[in-house]
Amino acid sequence: MTKLSSISDNHLVLNCRCGHVGQIAVADLIEVYGGDVEVVAVERAARCSRCKTKNIARSQIIYVGGSFEALSSGHTEKDAKDW
Ligand SMILES: [Zn+2]
Repeated sequence: MTKLSSISDNHLVLNCRCGHVGQIAVADLIEVYGGDVEVVAVERAARCSRCKTKNIARSQIIYVGGSFEALSSGHTEKDAKDW
């Protein structure tokens, strides 16, 4: 499992089942949840700002130091258009 502290330089992209896509800096999540929290726990806790449900379909960990590169979630398709 991936802890937030191990990806603190990255951003987390959350894809809701309603189609909403949100991007959150992992550093911001660490401020709220702490570095020992796992990414999957954040997925479960995250609430969509559009439909107000917790229906995260999938997430991506992206590195924002330069090119947007998917690191480890296994989802590399680019269908994010709404954030
Ligand atoms: Zn939603």
